[in-house]
Order: sequence, then C-alpha cells, then structure tokens
Amino acid sequence: MSKVILAENAGFCFGVQRAVEEALKVKKQYSKKIYTLGPLIHNNDVVMYLEKNDIYAIDYSEIDKLNEGDVILIRSHGVSKEVTENLEKHGLIVVNATCPYVTNIHKKVNKYSDLGYNIVILGDDKHPEVVGINGWCNNSAVITKDGTFNDKLPKKICVVSQTTEKEETWKKTVSNLSSISKELLAFNTICSATEVRQKSANELSQTVDTMIVIGGRNSSNTTKLYQIAKANCPNTIHIENSKELTKEFIEENKDKTVGITAGASTPDWIIKEVIDIMEGKN
Ligand code: SF4
Repeated sequence: MSKVILAENAGFCFGVQRAVEEALKVKKQYSKKIYTLGPLIHNNDVVMYLEKNDIYAIDYSEIDKLNEGDVILIRSHGVSKEVTENLEKHGLIVVNATCPYVTNIHKKVNKYSDLGYNIVILGDDKHPEVVGINGWCNNSAVITKDGTFNDKLPKKICVVSQTTEKEETWKKTVSNLSSISKELLAFNTICSATEVRQKSANELSQTVDTMIVIGGRNSSNTTKLYQIAKANCPNTIHIENSKELTKEFIEENKDKTVGITAGASTPDWIIKEVIDIMEGKN
C-alpha cells in the first residue's frame, strides 16, 4: 500500500464545484430534465454523471427547441445580459450559476461603461467568459490577448482581465495602457485557482517518489500540471480516472510515497477513487 499525499489545492475550483452542485440541486427541485447552456465542464466522467441525472448541455443556437417552463442553467463562465434576457423571453426558467468572481467583472464593466469609460479586456476573444463580459458593455470592449494594442485607444479606459490570465500579462497590459491613457481604472480580476493548483503540484512533486495527475486528456490545465510535476518527478503519470491505474503500477508503487493532483475539471469522487486504490482500500 502506498503512502498517498494529496496536493493542497487540487481538482474542482470553487466556481465549477458550485455550478455542478447547483445543477444537481435544481434537478432535485424541479424533478425534470435540466439543460445547461453549453457543457458545464469538460470532463467525460462528469458529463456522463450529469446525463445520468437528466442534466444535458444545449447550445445557444438550439434554445428554440426548448419549451416554456424548461429549466436552463448558466454555467460558471457567465453570459451577457442580452443572453439572459433572451432566455427569459423564451419563457425558460433561468438558473444563474455564474461564478461570483465573474459576476463581479460583469458589474464593474457595466458600471464603468455607463460612466463613459472604454472597456479593455485582457483575454481570449473566443472564450465564453470573455464573450460574456463583453456583453456587459454592449460588445464594445477592446480585447487584447497579450497586452499589446494595434489600434489607437481612447483616453478614458477601464481594464479588466479574464479570470485565468497570467499575472505577467496583466502587468504588461496595465503598463502599456498607462502610457496611452489619461484616465485609467485597472481591476485585476485574475482568479488564483489555476495558479495555486500549479504551485501545490510543483511543491508536492519535489517531495514524492511518484506523481499521479488526474484529469481530462484534452484539459489544458491538467496537461500543465503534468508538465510541472514531470519536471520534478520523472515517475509522473497522467490518467483520466482510476480505471487507468494498471496492476503493475499499483504493485511498483506499493511501498512508495505517491503524490496526487488533479485539474480544475476533475471532481472529488474521481480523486477519491484513485486515492483509495493506491492506499489499498479498493
Ligand atoms: S473565476 Fe476562478 S473560481 Fe470562478 S470558475 Fe473561474 S477559475 Fe473557478
């Protein structure tokens, strides 16, 4: 049996956990099919679990197919004011599971664009979170991916960031804007969830014999955790769930110290299954 240490920060972030719990709560409350506007999370096990509970993802372009009184949940990324209003106009029951950190950005963008500030967003213009934020200033924001600006900017600016941006890019953005703008309001809206997971993985992987990183193969934050852990601990593996733990691996590590971390889309129950198997409880 291995000695297992779980990274201090691993798995679901607060906002995603909250959205999944909300979906399950709403399902219980209405006892009928629940829809989420876009997939709640990019993790096959969770998607299957939600579908088993009658919770299905639906695309915004398909909402005409829904009936009045159907329940639709807005995921943690949030949406524009217009999208929420449109869902309500369709007679749907809208449950808002936007992460409060994202709602805070919506409020700031809405307030300061009303006060005459031109909004700048640091982030990926295709990412649903950024699309949603832009919808709180009539889609008028200047969006920068790397903190640089090709076009001439107005002098009165309010800048915010996508929650998953790097601090370094944020600093560069503010520094560039401060040389252009006469009146600059900068709200650092980066959420520390990604950073603290990476920091914990880095620390833990320096102290163990083996590392297990759990998360979707196509999850970029899980891949990043794997790279960090592998650099410190050559015996690092990336799995999606406990079914991928081979007998040989379990046997090889039975007297070793094994560190475990997980990407932000990995639920607690998958982490627990892996811990239980490595500790010989399953
Ligand atoms: S803002 Fe942070 S806590 Fe909220 S959903 Fe995004 S990463 Fe998670």
